[in-house]
Amino acid sequence: MYASRNISLCTKDCLCLFICPTGATDTENGQIDKTQCIDGCRMCVDACPSHAISLVFEEYPEPKAKDTQLVGSMLSFLEKKSSLEALAAGLAESSSDPGAQKLAKALQRSFRILGEDCAREGGFMLPQCNPVRDLKKDLDIIDIEE
Ligand code: SF4
Ligand code: SF4
Repeated sequence: MYASRNISLCTKDCLCLFICPTGATDTENGQIDKTQCIDGCRMCVDACPSHAISLVFEEYPEPKAKDTQLVGSMLSFLEKKSSLEALAAGLAESSSDPGAQKLAKALQRSFRILGEDCAREGGFMLPQCNPVRDLKKDLDIIDIEE
C-alpha cells in the first residue's frame, strides 16, 4: 500500500515532508511520489494532523458486473421513491401548519436518500449526476432541488 495525499484537506504544515524517510512527500505537484514511497510505511499518514494522507492499494479489483434484474428493480424503486419525494415536497409547500411542513420536509429528505441509495445500487456512482437527472426525466419524475 502506498501513501496518497488529499490536497483539499492538506493544511501545508509540512510535517509529512520532515518525517518521510525517502522524500516521496516533497513534490512539485502536491502528489506523493509513489515510486519513492515505501510499501506499507505510513509514517506520513500517522504524522499528518489534518488526516490528509491515506494508504491506498496499488491496484483495485474489477468491480463485479451488476445483475440486470437487480438493476431493474433498483431503478423501479428509484422511480417510486422519487415520486414520493415529489409528493412530500408538494405537501410541504401547500401546508400552512409549521409542524406538518416540518414533517413533510423530513419525509422529502428521507425519500431523497432512499432514492439515492437505489440509484447507487442501480449502477450510478453519483446519484445526483446528470445521467440520473436524465433518467428521472425519462421516467417523467420531477427532480426536486433542495
Ligand atoms: S508512507 Fe512512508 S515512504 Fe511513503 S510517503 Fe509516507 S512517509 Fe514517505
Ligand atoms: S502533514 Fe498533512 S497537512 Fe501537513 S503538509 Fe503533509 S499532508 Fe499536508
